[in-house]
Amino acid sequence: MAKPPLIWTNVILFSTTLIAALILVPWYQISIGFEAITIIIAVFCLFFCGLSITAGYHRLWSHRTYQAHWSVKLLFAIGGAFALQNSALHWSSDHRLHHKHVDNNEKDPYSAKRGFWYSHIGWMLRHYNIATYDDYSNVRDLQKDPIVMWQHKYYVPLVLITNIGFTLFIGWLTNNMLASAIAIGVARLVLSHHVTFFINSWAHMWGNQPYTDKNTAKDNWLLALFTHGEGYHNFHHIFESDYRNGIKWYHYDPTKWLITSLAWFGLASKLRVTPQQKIEQAKLTMILQKSKQRLALRQDAEELKLKLQAEYEQLVIKLNEFYGLRKQLFEDKKRKLLKEYDKTALKGQIKELKLAIELQRKAWLTLASYA
Ligand SMILES: [Zn+2]
Ligand SMILES: [Zn+2]
Repeated sequence: MAKPPLIWTNVILFSTTLIAALILVPWYQISIGFEAITIIIAVFCLFFCGLSITAGYHRLWSHRTYQAHWSVKLLFAIGGAFALQNSALHWSSDHRLHHKHVDNNEKDPYSAKRGFWYSHIGWMLRHYNIATYDDYSNVRDLQKDPIVMWQHKYYVPLVLITNIGFTLFIGWLTNNMLASAIAIGVARLVLSHHVTFFINSWAHMWGNQPYTDKNTAKDNWLLALFTHGEGYHNFHHIFESDYRNGIKWYHYDPTKWLITSLAWFGLASKLRVTPQQKIEQAKLTMILQKSKQRLALRQDAEELKLKLQAEYEQLVIKLNEFYGLRKQLFEDKKRKLLKEYDKTALKGQIKELKLAIELQRKAWLTLASYA
């Protein structure tokens, strides 16, 4: 089948900026040398663009994982245009399709099953979905957001003001037009583009699957370092309404930290998190599944499989009991229903159950690892 026609604007944009960055950055650094102030502003702009995409386009608008003050939305809308990744409306529409039809080569706009090149950048170089390009029926909620619609309407002027106007302004301010054009105009744009693109390509190909193997999304801490925390993509695909991608405190997820900080200042609210119970269960189910797959190769498989399944069910029952009790304690505390001695008793019960679960989990994991 013949490939759809090329989108020349994108082909020229992506190739010229990449080639320019690869040649001009080392040339300038070796022959003249960037001043510290130019590098600092370029890095700041890189974070501004990146976080506008991850915290704005992705976690706020595509997935509605929290609500934000209009001033924050305005900044994200400007940063998104600066990042040159189409309007928030269009981006979110594509992204919702990606989640809904993940890995479906016909319906997922950047299906990783079509290969690295296609999911990274190829999907933007040809008119693959020309018939549905302007179909925004899956983002009707965003069409009611005046900032989203304002950015969609004035996307091109906003792109020019940020990418050209702002770059020239910094050049004038630092008295070095060329350095500003190379570092902030070109290098920042290329880096910001490709790190986002990596989430569609790399994060669907390289890494672990601790929560689900129903799609190609992977968790990859290294990728999280470059993508403002979006590398925990396996978690994200199963729990897409969670405002976090990296859920442990040691996970590098600056997007999550930004949203939490905004909430401290009253600029973000209704941050959605997945109940811990669900996360634990998804993880245990994945371990069970992997062990069963390994067991399929062994002679004594049936007996072990049954034991593994039975112990797993026991563990899940205990986990549910634990989270149920914790919820009860929390709610009773809120309604001030508990007397002091009841509270102590309930807390003791929860602690005991937690210990029992830990022991049982360890035993079960040992069993699963033998399998
Ligand atoms: Zn997503
Ligand atoms: Zn994905």
